[in-house]
Formats: sequence, structure tokens, C-alpha cells
Amino acid sequence: MIEMHDIWKTYPDGTPALQGINIVIDRNEFVYVVGPSGAGKSTFMKLIYREEVPTKGQLSVNGFNIGKLKQRKIPYVRRNIGVVFQDFRLLPKLSVYENVAFAMEVVESPKRQIRRRTMEVLELVGLKHKASSLPAQLSGGEQQRVAIARAIVNSPSVIVADEPTGNLDPETSWGIMKLLEEINFRGTTIVMATHNKEIVNTLRKRVIAIERGTIVRDQQRGDYGYEV
Ligand code: ADP
Ligand code: ADP
Repeated sequence: MIEMHDIWKTYPDGTPALQGINIVIDRNEFVYVVGPSGAGKSTFMKLIYREEVPTKGQLSVNGFNIGKLKQRKIPYVRRNIGVVFQDFRLLPKLSVYENVAFAMEVVESPKRQIRRRTMEVLELVGLKHKASSLPAQLSGGEQQRVAIARAIVNSPSVIVADEPTGNLDPETSWGIMKLLEEINFRGTTIVMATHNKEIVNTLRKRVIAIERGTIVRDQQRGDYGYEV
């Protein structure tokens, strides 16, 4: 489902971020991406959701060769990938409902379907009763649930989450992990970059460690492996 073959990424200013990444992530896996700051984790994630393109190498996501993707095909690929950020990135002037529905409007889903599916995912994340609230009226954990609802509303096959618990207290973080596990259980691949040692060492899953732009460890039911 996600395949990288000798992937290199050098930013325009000459910074080498990834240097020869080889990896296969299968359908329905849950993968943690760990490693020190500046190691290349975010770049790895950005390549998957096509925010950046590789300098060299072959990358395919859901059978699409991402490197050679024609501009007009990008929306189709993006629709199949949900993205969750550390800082939520909700639109502040839109309600919870509108934030989630917007992701379906962008891909021109029929109106009736938007209404049904948006309420369905808000119920799944436990926030149906907050549909009319603005993001600022919600706690951090609730805002992240809205962001997750937005990420899954188009039924993507992959969720990419870049430190989704980075701004949350421990208890709230466990709730978010439960939700991500449930989404994974229902058939969505999850790739999650994290510095949360507690979570990685407790909810054991595949661990990919990146250091200085290369994969230095790839372990099933792995551990966090760093001191902080
Ligand atoms: P991580 O997520 O592990 O902290 P990143 O992928 O963000 O690592 O960064 C990897 C390297 O690429 C770092 O040296 C970082 O400074 C650099 N980098 C990231 N984004 C850019 C950019 N847009 N332009 C130049 N260098 C960048
Ligand atoms: P449908 O979308 O037809 O209702 P499913 O309920 O089987 O079908 O879920 C399909 C998609 O819904 C999944 O691929 C995923 O993107 C999303 N999904 C899975 N689990 C959850 C969940 N816990 N909360 C919200 N959406 C989910």
C-alpha cells in the first residue's frame, strides 16, 4: 500500500532530509515513526501525503506512483489519505460540523451524503453534540477529535498523523490513541510520528526509527528506544 524504494529528499536549500529510504507498509498496519528531532520524520510523512515530492527514488501509495503524479490526479490521491497534525489545524471561523463537512465539499460529494457522513463521523469521535460549536470552544482533546473526524470523513485507506498527541495531556492522549486504534481496527492503515515513549512502549506496534535521514530500526511490536 505504501512502498518506498531508495527514496531521497534534499530540500531546495541543500538540506538532506532523507537518504535512501526503503520501506513497505501493508494495508491495515499501524506504524509508529520515531527518532530525534530533525531526523526526517515529518519529511517522510509529507512524502506520503504528497506535501513534498522525493528528489530521487520510487514512491507509491495505493498503487499510485506519487513521484510521477499528474497535477490533476493529486486530489484523488489526497482524498485517500487523511492527515492529522499536532496543532489540529481546524478552520477557526467554521463550526465543528463545517470543518468536517468541508473536507467532503472539496471533493464534491453530494450534499445529502455530506450531511449523513459528517454526522456519522462526529458520532464516531463522540462529538455529535458539539457539531455547532466553534473550535475555540472545545478542549485540545476535542479539537483533535474533530481533526480526526475530518481526516476520516472521506473514508481514506491511510491516516498520516504527525505527533497527534504532542499538544495533549497524558490522559487525553490515551483517548486519542483509543480512537486511532479503533479506526485502524476498522480497516485504515495508520502511520504516526511520535515522541511519546509511554504510548509506544504500552500500545506495542511496528516501530520504524529514522536517524539522519535513514531507517536505523524496523521492529514488529517494537519499543520507543530513546531516553526522552
Ligand atoms: P523531524 O520531523 O524528524 O524533526 P524533518 O523531516 O522535519 O525532521 O526535518 C529533516 C531535516 O530537513 C532537518 O534538518 C530539517 O531542518 C530539514 N528541513 C525540514 N523541512 C525543510 C524545508 N522546508 N527546507 C529546508 N530544510 C528543511
Ligand atoms: P462506511 O464509511 O460505509 O460507513 P465503515 O464504517 O466500514 O464504512 O468505515 C469506512 C471508513 O470509515 C474507514 O475506512 C475509515 O476511514 C472510517 N472509519 C473507520 N473507523 C472509524 C472510526 N472509529 N470513526 C470514524 N470513522 C472511522
